[in-house]
Amino acid sequence: MKNRSSAEGVVVAAVRPRTPAAAAGLRPGDRVLAINGHALRDAIDFQFHGGDERLALSVEREGVRHALRLVRWAGAELGVELEAPRAAEIATCANKCVFCFIHQLPKGMRKSLYVKDDDFRLSFLHGNYITLTDLDEAELERIVEQRLSPLYVSVHATDPALRWELLGRPRVTAEILPRLERLAKAGIRMHAQIVLCPGLNDGAHLERTVRELAPLHPHVATTAIVPVGLTRHRERLPALRTLTDDEARALTERVATWQGQFLERLGSRFVFLGDEVYLQAGVPLPAADAYEGFAIAEDGIGLVRRFEDGVERALRRRRAASAPRAVTVISGALYAPRLERLVAAIAGATARVAAVPNHFFGGSVSVAGLLTGQDIARHLATLPELGEAIVVPAVALRDRDGVFLDDMTPSDLAAALGVPVRVVAPEPAALLSAVCSAP
Ligand code: SF4
Repeated sequence: MKNRSSAEGVVVAAVRPRTPAAAAGLRPGDRVLAINGHALRDAIDFQFHGGDERLALSVEREGVRHALRLVRWAGAELGVELEAPRAAEIATCANKCVFCFIHQLPKGMRKSLYVKDDDFRLSFLHGNYITLTDLDEAELERIVEQRLSPLYVSVHATDPALRWELLGRPRVTAEILPRLERLAKAGIRMHAQIVLCPGLNDGAHLERTVRELAPLHPHVATTAIVPVGLTRHRERLPALRTLTDDEARALTERVATWQGQFLERLGSRFVFLGDEVYLQAGVPLPAADAYEGFAIAEDGIGLVRRFEDGVERALRRRRAASAPRAVTVISGALYAPRLERLVAAIAGATARVAAVPNHFFGGSVSVAGLLTGQDIARHLATLPELGEAIVVPAVALRDRDGVFLDDMTPSDLAAALGVPVRVVAPEPAALLSAVCSAP
């Protein structure tokens, strides 16, 4: 099933005071149908047509159409936040990727978690990876016309037959190179991703994929190799396995060799490996400059390096010792040993790091972002002392509603354990202030 939004406008979620939008009389709840005569399909159309200095807005408010005039003064933001698209407005994929995480979710979770989005608009706006399998001609033209760049593309393999296999045999062609070449020729910048499934798209296939993507650089700016994530909920799904530790080590060496070659040939390392692989392999992470600006950190490429360097810098900047806080810091099992060392390096810190096993998803899932409230509560109940607070990484909570994946809230967790819960952003300063009081 493929959903596309129609030209029904965009809904205003908030209007910031003292901005051009506020001066024009826009209000939360207004549906903006057109700007300067151009019907709006979505937030991208709003951005695209909203760049002029003078905007004639056609707005629907409580069923009545209004015409508003908006004048943007020099350098001013419009001052409008739009509502996120509803699930029915998001383009969904017709693929059945053998590694799809959504197919591996347990039953009974919130409906929104099962939305298989494959929407070029979300790729442009939020960095979601898309397969390009379902794009029609009009959509390709729109990407070029509105210069929707960069896009984030799930490639997985350039061999058409293998890609078709990996994507679960979609009805449409799975040939990716001609599409990437077309977008590259039109000047669209892209970030490619390979979800590595040992025994399927590794080895010679990975070599081929990387070698066939490289000629598209700089339009294909980066290629991220990330390990497949497997949960214990894989009934009736193709058999897959994760990397062994030896394979992880060999992969780090292979990627280092490619990076050296590409740096010489292209002026960029071009291929980057997910943090999880370095952690599994037990080898040092590349230095910060090897991530070339951390362009794809959101995909787990360099997040750990950036965070740990940030903590070190923040510690060096501290002028006076601060009082330690006796808190329990929650971590996924994979990162916990490094986090323990990081906390231990903070002079005087007495915080404990709790490596929470992921029973909810099971399998190879060991990152903090996929921890549920139930698993945290169950694990912490086994510890003798939790201290004055529990420090939960914000990545474990859903952005919009601030709840764990199992719908538990931080307040539910605090009530279950009888200890306050502090949610901290994945920022060095936030970790430091969570484990030490200000000097
Ligand atoms: S493209 Fe593949 S991995 Fe992504 S949602 Fe669709 S089936 Fe799942």
